[in-house]
Amino acid sequence: MDALLEGLNDAQRSAVTSPANVVQVLAPPGSGKTKTLTARVAYHVNHERLQPWNIIVCTFTIKAAREMKERIKGFVGEKLEAKLILGTFHSVARRFLSRYGQEIGIDKNFGIADSSDSKAILKRIVSRYEYTVEPGHALSRISKLKAKGVSDDAFRATSKSVNDNEFAMVYSSYQEHLKASNLLDYDDLLVRCVELLQRHPSCVSTIQAVLIDEYQDTNNIQYELMKLLAQSTRRITIVGDPDQSIYSFRSAEIKNLLRMRDEFPESIIINLENNYRSSGCILNSALAVIEQDESRPQKALIATHGIGEPPTLRHLVSAHVEAKWIVEEIQRTKTLAAGLLAYNDYAILLRSSQLSLQLERALGQAGVPYRMVAGTKFFERAEIKILLDYLRVISQPEHNDAVARVINTPSRKVGDVTVKALLEEAEVKKVTLWKLVLDAAQGRRRPDCKVSAQAMNGIDQFVNVILTSREKLLPTEGEHCNLYGLIDHVLKKISFETYLKQTHKDNWQDRWANVEELVAQATQMATAMASGEEITDDALPVVDGIEQRQDTAADILSKFLANVTLSSITDQDGGEAEQVTISTIHAAKGLEWPVVFMPAIYDGSIPHSRADDHDEERRLLYVGMTRAQGFLYLSCPVKQSGQETTTLSRFISDRSIQKHFSERGPDLAFKCSTIPDLARILRRPCPPVEDINAARGAVERPEDDRYPATREEIDGDDPTWGASWDDKFNHSGPSSDGKPN
Ligand code: ATP
Ligand code: MG
Repeated sequence: MDALLEGLNDAQRSAVTSPANVVQVLAPPGSGKTKTLTARVAYHVNHERLQPWNIIVCTFTIKAAREMKERIKGFVGEKLEAKLILGTFHSVARRFLSRYGQEIGIDKNFGIADSSDSKAILKRIVSRYEYTVEPGHALSRISKLKAKGVSDDAFRATSKSVNDNEFAMVYSSYQEHLKASNLLDYDDLLVRCVELLQRHPSCVSTIQAVLIDEYQDTNNIQYELMKLLAQSTRRITIVGDPDQSIYSFRSAEIKNLLRMRDEFPESIIINLENNYRSSGCILNSALAVIEQDESRPQKALIATHGIGEPPTLRHLVSAHVEAKWIVEEIQRTKTLAAGLLAYNDYAILLRSSQLSLQLERALGQAGVPYRMVAGTKFFERAEIKILLDYLRVISQPEHNDAVARVINTPSRKVGDVTVKALLEEAEVKKVTLWKLVLDAAQGRRRPDCKVSAQAMNGIDQFVNVILTSREKLLPTEGEHCNLYGLIDHVLKKISFETYLKQTHKDNWQDRWANVEELVAQATQMATAMASGEEITDDALPVVDGIEQRQDTAADILSKFLANVTLSSITDQDGGEAEQVTISTIHAAKGLEWPVVFMPAIYDGSIPHSRADDHDEERRLLYVGMTRAQGFLYLSCPVKQSGQETTTLSRFISDRSIQKHFSERGPDLAFKCSTIPDLARILRRPCPPVEDINAARGAVERPEDDRYPATREEIDGDDPTWGASWDDKFNHSGPSSDGKPN
């Protein structure tokens, strides 16, 4: 049989090979939806002879896009895989806009405003005009309106109340501000791409198939975009699972599933029922959770693996002890698994990223390597933000906020008051801040606001850094953009290493290492682009009247910046190294790990205290639990920070749910079958019996009785336990008999 269809079950195979134009695969977690979608892409290429550049694949996260690329490469080869138009909705939209955006008045080298840029812009608008709206609220309202396709003009036309009128002004000023800075925000990428494809359908005339993963989380504007991308052949495959819809805060509409059925009556619907990911026990516990939602239709989900170890549900005294317990459990299971598990087989999934601090500390203290997905991301570190802002200004001097952020970093004696006055003057004169300072530096026109001689000197230096850097972007005959050379120039011009030494005496080395990492990433991407491996836009169709040219150095820089900004929406690079993953549950969607920990399972954390939709919170828990293949741990610290006590999450509190869990971790020290069972689930060779026995010998006894396990034990006989336990841990750790000192 064709390698492509091998390892698929009948239902999956029929979805992959279906001649139907519109295929919808709706199926539970771990049933192979993504695997099926990937195989269908390969099938389009290998069997239907579609050209990869005529196929669009949308995934929800960048990590998912990367994983899918890897899998597809195996079927169609590296060369063809590289030509697929594959990425998140935002990155696909970005590609069409940077190629054809000029047709609707978008400059080729537009920048992307990330949410902190957007917030800063709104903050300024609100304070300048003394509006009453809170900038964060304004941003989320604007984003919701954009997701529904409501423009600022459309909103103004219908607004009646005083509040709405004020908000309409804020929305309009925000759009004007973005335009003046040559920026699009995340939502604009989708909105403007929809506009482009409505007005110029020829941009997608060559697109023959569109495939969408995690369809349940598309919002209305993404739905429109999907239809428009597919308009020339209406050939669409979607895969999704209504039980995993967790993005309504980003305006995802579960109704889009029904809409698809109505608007594409030619759809065929394929159900998958076998779960290939998790042990039977894990699956049963997750199903027990989701089945509490009575409005949900019953569905079949059949485990293909053995029953495995029951998931753990554990109470711990505090978040601090919980973190320590997780780290010890990672080390215990890793040792006992006798080589079957490595650190990158472990994930800790959190309802919100703020919960990561204790964990990071505990992992750090124990020397366990870890990486954060969606938290304080690499690109949000102070030193990286400064450097990226310089690159933004070099790429796009109209970016007022970036100019304002770095004009005095490192210090050039241009004070905050001066920067603010300059910004206001620029706004009044309707010029960019860059133009204002450039004219001043070049002696054409002094600003009207007061600028001291010292500050003027600083402005001159800043302008010099930017101008000399921009020279590096000018095309040189026969040479590709040298991003390395450019960044190196900036670093030297601003004496960045010295600046870091002076401002961060304790950890400047770490920060400088981050800078070097950024340089390495930039260089790698520029090389990949030059050799055609990385996304280039060459594969998009040639449309009459739109000139096609090689990417210039400036294009490469702006694409690098766009990729950086887009990669921070959902997740971040990395993951191959031997590291424990800490991620939010949202960012873990679609992924799987042999061992999953979900700490902080209490009311207020999940369901989150600010969440209105508890069904969605329950689905979130379900998504998290179904990431686990072999071992799953849920835990609840009895005390939060301070003395406040918690209540176990209402989604788990029912006895009928709790019967699926055990209080202790998996019993792999004494049950002979645990490791072989786990190896079977992971489809890995089982370690030799001698190794398993040796590992057991090395761990004298399970850690079980080192920590009180149940709420009763914690609250129990000794009233001082709960209170003093945390302190004991902080100072001396538990005594050798496992009881508190
Ligand atoms: P989610 O809803 O969480 O995104 P999914 O339905 O997309 O899940 P996949 O990630 O495609 O599921 O598959 C889950 C796991 O099951 C993967 O490890 C995949 O390789 C494996 N798998 C899928 N189909 C089969 C099959 N027919 N035989 C063996 N393994 C399979
Ligand atoms: Mg999937």
